[in-house]
Amino acid sequence: MNAPQAFQPPHRLLMGPGPSNIAPTVYTALAKPMVGHLDPVFVQLMEEVKAMLRAVFQTSNEMTFPISGTGSAGMEFCFVNLIESGDEVIIGVNGVFGTRMCDVAARCGAKVTRVESPWGQIITPGQIADALKTCPKPKLVAIVHAETSTGALTPPAEIAKLAHDAGALFVLDTVTSLGGCNVALDAWGVDAVYSGTQKCLSAPPGLAPVSLSPRALQVATSRKTKVQSWYLDVNLLASYWGQERVYHHTAPISMNYALHEALRLVLEEGLENRWRRHEQNHLLLKAGLEKLGLTLTAQEGHRLWQLNAVSVPAGVDEAAVRKRLLTEFNIEIGAGLGPLKGKVWRIGLMGETSKRENVETLLGALGKILG
Ligand SMILES: *Cc1c(COP(=O)(O)O)cnc(C)c1O
Repeated sequence: MNAPQAFQPPHRLLMGPGPSNIAPTVYTALAKPMVGHLDPVFVQLMEEVKAMLRAVFQTSNEMTFPISGTGSAGMEFCFVNLIESGDEVIIGVNGVFGTRMCDVAARCGAKVTRVESPWGQIITPGQIADALKTCPKPKLVAIVHAETSTGALTPPAEIAKLAHDAGALFVLDTVTSLGGCNVALDAWGVDAVYSGTQKCLSAPPGLAPVSLSPRALQVATSRKTKVQSWYLDVNLLASYWGQERVYHHTAPISMNYALHEALRLVLEEGLENRWRRHEQNHLLLKAGLEKLGLTLTAQEGHRLWQLNAVSVPAGVDEAAVRKRLLTEFNIEIGAGLGPLKGKVWRIGLMGETSKRENVETLLGALGKILG
C-alpha cells in the first residue's frame, strides 16, 4: 500500500473522564532521546519516579513504582498478587470500577462479597461493618476512592480501620483521585493502591502507579501458589524496580519520562495548591451549570472536584449535545455508563484540564447549544 499522510490529531479540550490534557513540558519529555532500560541515567530516573510517587501518595512504602499498563493493569496487579484461589474478599460496588474489581477478583479465584450502593452514592463504614458480620475473616477489603463513572468520593479512613480490625488488607482504587484531591496512604492505612497516569496526573495513558505496604508485600511474597500473571508478579517486578536491576520486561522508557515530568509538575505546584485549584474550578463549573439550569447528580457532600456528573435535562438528546461540543467546539465530555447511560454527562476537570478558562469555554459552548 501507499503510506498514508502522517497522522495529525486535533488539539481537543479533554473534559471527559480521561485522558486529560497534557502539559507542554510532558509532551516535550515524550520526545526526548531513547536510552536503554538498564542505562544508569534511566536507573536514576526510576529512583526519582519512585521517590516522587511516594511523595504524591503520601507514603513511605518502599514498594512504590509504576506498572507498565493503564489503570486497569494496576487493578489487576493488586488483586493477582494478594489473592489466592478460595480467598474471601469484600468489595464496595457503587459504579463501573467497583464492578470491575469484582470481576478481576473472581478471576483470581476469590469468593467475593459485594457491598452495593446506588450509583452516585458512597460506600459507608456501616455497610462494610455489616458485610464483616457474614464474612468475618476476609483476605482484603477493597473500595474505589473516586468513582469516575458517577462522580462520588468515598472517605476511606474508617473503612480501612474496619478492614484492619478484621485482620484484612485494605485496597484502594485512586485512579481518578491521585493528583486531584487528598490521597494519604499512610495516614489512612492503605495496604495496596493503584492509580493511572491519564487522569489527574495529566500524562498520557500507559502507566499505573502502585504501592504496597510492608504488610501487603509480606502477603504477596509468602504465597502458597505462584502469582498466575507472570507480567504483573511483584516478586519478579521487584528485582527490576528494586536495587538488583534484573531484566524482567522492557520498561516503556518514554512513558516513564512523561510520568517523571508530570510528577515534577505536581510537586512544583504543591499538593495542597493543586487540590485547591481542582476545588475552585469545580465550584466555578457548578455555579455556571446552575445558571444554565443544570444540576450535579452525585451524593451531596461527597462530590468529586475532578469529575462532575450532570443530569441531562428532560427532552434534551444527550448524545447530540456531546457530538456538537466535539465537532463545533473541539471539546470532549463523557457519556453516562451502565444505569446512568443517557441520563448524565460526565465533565472532567482533571489535572491540566482544571483551569478557569476551560470551565468558561465549556459553559459558553453549553450555553449556545442548550440556549
Ligand atoms: C479510569 C479508571 C480505571 C481504569 O483505568 P484505565 O486507564 O482506563 O485502564 C480504574 N478505576 C477508576 C476509578 C478509573 O477512573
